[in-house]
Amino acid sequence: MPAHAFTNGRILSMSPTVGTPEVVVVDEGRVVAAGDTGILRSFPDATVQDLAGRVLCPGFIDAHHHLSIAALHPHWADLSAATTVDDLLAALVAQARREPGTPWVRGAGWSDLPTGLVPHRRQLDALGLDRPVVVAHYSLHQAVVCSRALDELGIGRTTPDPPAGTIGRDADGTPNGLLVERAWSEAHARSLAPFADPDRWPDHIEALARDLLADGITAVHDAACPPPAETAYRTLAAAGRLPVSVLVMPHPLALLAEPDAARLDGPPTGEGDSRVRVGAVKLFADGGILPAIDVHMGGVPMRVGELFGGLDAQVALAVGRGFRVAVHAIGNAGLSAALAAFAAAARRHPGVDHRFRVEHACLASPLQLTRLAELGGVAVVQPGFLHHLGRSVEGVRFDDATWLPFGDVLRSGAVLAASSDSPCTFHAPLRTGAHGASRRTGSGAVLDAGQSVSYEDWLCAYTAGAAYAGGQETERGMLAPGLVADMVVLDGDLDATRPPTVAQTWVAGELAYDAAVR
Ligand SMILES: [Zn+2]
Repeated sequence: MPAHAFTNGRILSMSPTVGTPEVVVVDEGRVVAAGDTGILRSFPDATVQDLAGRVLCPGFIDAHHHLSIAALHPHWADLSAATTVDDLLAALVAQARREPGTPWVRGAGWSDLPTGLVPHRRQLDALGLDRPVVVAHYSLHQAVVCSRALDELGIGRTTPDPPAGTIGRDADGTPNGLLVERAWSEAHARSLAPFADPDRWPDHIEALARDLLADGITAVHDAACPPPAETAYRTLAAAGRLPVSVLVMPHPLALLAEPDAARLDGPPTGEGDSRVRVGAVKLFADGGILPAIDVHMGGVPMRVGELFGGLDAQVALAVGRGFRVAVHAIGNAGLSAALAAFAAAARRHPGVDHRFRVEHACLASPLQLTRLAELGGVAVVQPGFLHHLGRSVEGVRFDDATWLPFGDVLRSGAVLAASSDSPCTFHAPLRTGAHGASRRTGSGAVLDAGQSVSYEDWLCAYTAGAAYAGGQETERGMLAPGLVADMVVLDGDLDATRPPTVAQTWVAGELAYDAAVR
């Protein structure tokens, strides 16, 4: 492998000690030197890569990406454009024809916003399909299923709602097919299982991961990674076929469910190598459809949603087994539950670098974020949420907490790590970061300009910040000697109103994507 010396551009190392060097030299997959042009004399054989004034920064790390699930989306009915029940049904019929041997017919990307589109199980039954049908919501936090699916899941009129889940019902108590939060976990697992085939899943993952390189992404944290997906990643890595580095965040196949005790006996956080490594165990404090919110509005108290429960015990169990933890908390009451569980774990295991992760932190007060910082925590946020969530909360202001408080995270001293939550929303870092800087929602309005984070700080959150969230700061996320030479060359200014584009993506010191040759 030849050495390469990158120069004649603006180099953002994201490392406080390296700063903005004039030259970065990479060799054998790693950064070997960074400094002024004088260092070129030490590398006479290096191939000079002329940046021609462009920006060079570390490859982007998407710290919350459901790569293993997103990889299956092209193989399910795409419901993302459906605005009527007929649209949904047509896509499901086509899917049943396309996958005649698959035990469940699954559609993905259904949205009830802004149309209010929620199918009834009887409409799915009317298709007359010979298999269970599941219409999965884009959030991956609810679905609608047909009657045959309810039968297979053992859900009937007398079935009580599970903890942290709701079974939608008609006025007479009969299930209408809607399954919310943990009520849909098993439907997810069963409809995904046929695709968890060790012969198929790796191919699907490889195909999507290769596409991520075009957006400058060189690493992801798979934020809910079931055991068969861990196996798929290791299979790909062993064959040299994994295009991006993956940090697996263990979670059962039944999405949103409590952690799998057997997996907690397996490889703990940190095990693996620079291609596939075990990250934090993924847990849930609250939901995605109705997060746990406890606020005041004009002095009037207001509570919605519910806590998933059991979090203290789950955090204690995982930490006791040598895992770090990442807790989904969207509402401020969910965040309080996460902070309490973190504090208890820190008391039980003092002197340990717990690197507590909060996933989302969509509604938080400055005091809560300060507490997260005191606990040494990281907020893994999604600037792209400005588009959907930002639009739906325009004009909804609380006395004691702020929506998408990204500026407050930086001010609190907690580490800001950026991510997409793909496939729940679009993933390109240069696009999501633009929303996080401009605070523009999907309607074009500006949501709370005081929470803006600069475009350059988003690039830092997508590199050094995300690496820190994953415990990877001595491996990647900065252009500093000894770290993996994953890099991206950007065309254009770091301007949120006219975001730059990815010119090149380098993985372990080799050119992996070049916009000029596509
Ligand atoms: Zn997620």
